[in-house]
Amino acid sequence: MYDYLVVGAGLFGAVFAREAARVGKKCLVIDKRAHAGGNLYCESAEGINIHKYGAHIFHTSDSEVWDYINQFAEFNRYTNAPVANFKGEIYNLPFNMNTFYKLWGTASPDEAKRMIDSQRGSISEPKNLEEQAISLVGADIYEKLIKGYTEKQWGRRCEELPAFIIKRLPVRFTYDNNYFNDRYQGVPIGGYNQIFDRLLGDCDVALETDYFTHRGMKAKKTVYTGMIDEFFGCEFGPLEYRSLSFETETLDTQNFQGNAVVNYTSGDVPFTRIIEHKHFEFGDQPKTVITREYPKAWQKGDEPYYPVNDKANTERYLKYQALAKNERNVIFGGRLGSYRYYDMWRVIREALDMARREL
Ligand code: FAD
Ligand code: UDP
Repeated sequence: MYDYLVVGAGLFGAVFAREAARVGKKCLVIDKRAHAGGNLYCESAEGINIHKYGAHIFHTSDSEVWDYINQFAEFNRYTNAPVANFKGEIYNLPFNMNTFYKLWGTASPDEAKRMIDSQRGSISEPKNLEEQAISLVGADIYEKLIKGYTEKQWGRRCEELPAFIIKRLPVRFTYDNNYFNDRYQGVPIGGYNQIFDRLLGDCDVALETDYFTHRGMKAKKTVYTGMIDEFFGCEFGPLEYRSLSFETETLDTQNFQGNAVVNYTSGDVPFTRIIEHKHFEFGDQPKTVITREYPKAWQKGDEPYYPVNDKANTERYLKYQALAKNERNVIFGGRLGSYRYYDMWRVIREALDMARREL
């Protein structure tokens, strides 16, 4: 009998399983996909690592998490600095002095702050994403770089979205295009799969195995990283997720867009971004591979990439969370098991904390 049945060979499941195996527990890790790695999985084409489920840049300020992940791969010095294309005009992201200069010709931080103040209006406590965005960066940036992108990504108007989503992005009064404020950042040289080969090395792994069609599998405890509402048969109604479809193309050119990530921020372009994968590892292969990312509503059968943490879904989630607390032999974790918009470092942090409490 296994000590743990781990449902999901993504980051949460694999980190937990590795920690359990390290202290002598027997683990079976299952995943319904044909590969481990969850959304970090990479495929190789033209000698380039393709981030199959969307671009993944590792970033954290948690030194324990950084040291942990560095045991399993060597990271390069890639720093994410996406650019935004709005109707053919290029702007630097995140919102910083380069963006402000391009928009308004403001060369000093004081001039840029005065410009934003003049566009801010009188919002004192932002109630939604639109108010939050305008109060942070003013109406021009909201209209050109936020509104269209956000409404495509989330499929609803910015007035109906929670403010925290936009607070993920830094606003800086320096000429600094680094998308993240974290102390550590990079992409594993050779891709993410090696990390999972090492994390899962001492566990049994069964792929193409859906928990719900193999409910007979027995272990002393289960670690579940799938959708929490599905676990409970959606008895309080389904939680909402956003999905994506990826359109990947190989081009007979060495360098298509000069950057790994270009966001298309206008509402009339149907995709949100184009990823040119080779730039994550500074590749100089003769060809290039690009992926257009199209957001869409999640329906049964699609991959649930993003939880929609608005008020209605949060209330519904809390009911599932209360049920989860009564499941003595099941641990819920990860982005889908916790219904949280977690980055990778946060998932590792949660898995390590969980392992510490449990093992
Ligand atoms: P997942 O990776 O989703 O793993 C869950 C696994 O469970 C999946 O493999 C799934 O197949 C399996 N599963 C589900 N249900 C079942 C079932 N019933 N039976 C068997 N198996 C099941 N984070 C960053 O830090 N930096 C980034 O740049 C970044 N970019 C991102 C870009 C995109 C487009 C997306 C969607 C996310 C991004 N993230 C990024 C977040 C990152 O992907 C997550 O933090 C991380 O993958 C979460 O790991 P997880 O183990 O919780 O979930
Ligand atoms: N966002 C935006 N314009 C951009 C990039 C991001 O308005 O060019 C907003 C959008 O609402 C998005 C949020 O900022 O959902 C968070 O962006 P991030 O790049 O962190 O999203 P992720 O990589 O998780 O999809």
